[in-house]
Amino acid sequence: MRLGDLRAVVGPAGHRRDDRRAYRDLARDVALYAVAVTGAVLAPNPVVQLVFGAGAGIAVTALFVWAHDAAHGALFGDERKGRVLGTLAMLPSLQPYRLWQHGHNRVHHGFTSLVTVDWIWRPWDPTTYAAASPLARLGYRVERSALGCGWHYLRRVWWDGMVRYRPASTSQRRDRRFSWSITSAWAVAAASAAFVAGGGWAVAAAVVVPWLVFTYAIAFITYLHHTHPTRRFYASRSTWNPVEGHVTGSTLIDVARPVRWLLHDIFLHTPHHLDTRIPYYRLSEAWESLRPAVAGLDVLHYRLTSQQVRVTFAECQLFDYADGRWQSFTARRSAARPAGPLGSHAAWRG
Ligand SMILES: [Zn+2]
Repeated sequence: MRLGDLRAVVGPAGHRRDDRRAYRDLARDVALYAVAVTGAVLAPNPVVQLVFGAGAGIAVTALFVWAHDAAHGALFGDERKGRVLGTLAMLPSLQPYRLWQHGHNRVHHGFTSLVTVDWIWRPWDPTTYAAASPLARLGYRVERSALGCGWHYLRRVWWDGMVRYRPASTSQRRDRRFSWSITSAWAVAAASAAFVAGGGWAVAAAVVVPWLVFTYAIAFITYLHHTHPTRRFYASRSTWNPVEGHVTGSTLIDVARPVRWLLHDIFLHTPHHLDTRIPYYRLSEAWESLRPAVAGLDVLHYRLTSQQVRVTFAECQLFDYADGRWQSFTARRSAARPAGPLGSHAAWRG
């Protein structure tokens, strides 16, 4: 089976764009953000300001998820429209759109779970961990914890991957400069406006807290997208193939209805990996049409519970790429991955 065969199952119906729906959802996210930020600046109590700031962080995450679909070209036939609106929707999360888009679309979606290329949430192997300095190990342990996972996104994705990243090609360097100048201008303007309206605390509550809440939320979500005791990562191109990477390497997670509504079905990740042209509002129906086609594959679908999250963070700490198994920091090994129906990798090469 090839990825193209599965994409053919989705067909034009799964890609059908609804501009009005996209605009309506964007307007909803902007409205939520505006209300929450206003509260974060003007509420009379500093603690209430922080609560509004946390709410704004959820709205920032929703805007980012919307922009993610725009960056895939899933929302508008007009590429320029998607680029302009996606750039604007990513401003409050301080993500430079074009730079982020390059990493996400080419690196992550090009080689999902192949860690020599797709480096986000790449687990260390036990040997690397044993050889690391105590400080590096501490940082890694913080990243791989349910409470500290935001550190991974902040340090490795945002700081190393976007602030400090220097692309090799001229066009990418130009894109980087362009995106960062817009994002920096927004940051300065937003912080100045909050300061004039409410002082230093308003800057913290309306700009910094929403960004930190977004950072944590997106780290947590993207961790669960590809990490689970029964999912694996690949260290070599010869053992990786697109079907394993995108279909069996991604997860479908059922979450409460308000979360689905707020975050544009971001937890239905497998159909998105299978075909990035499916807009977020068609992921659910697209998955229904795909189910029979992937029935023979080792697809992971579960309901989000605190117990499941606890088990995943406890078991998925180090990954032994040689035998494809997770182990904890205390060398407790996970059960062997259930034998999938994939058989020989060669037979499944996309
Ligand atoms: Zn994507």
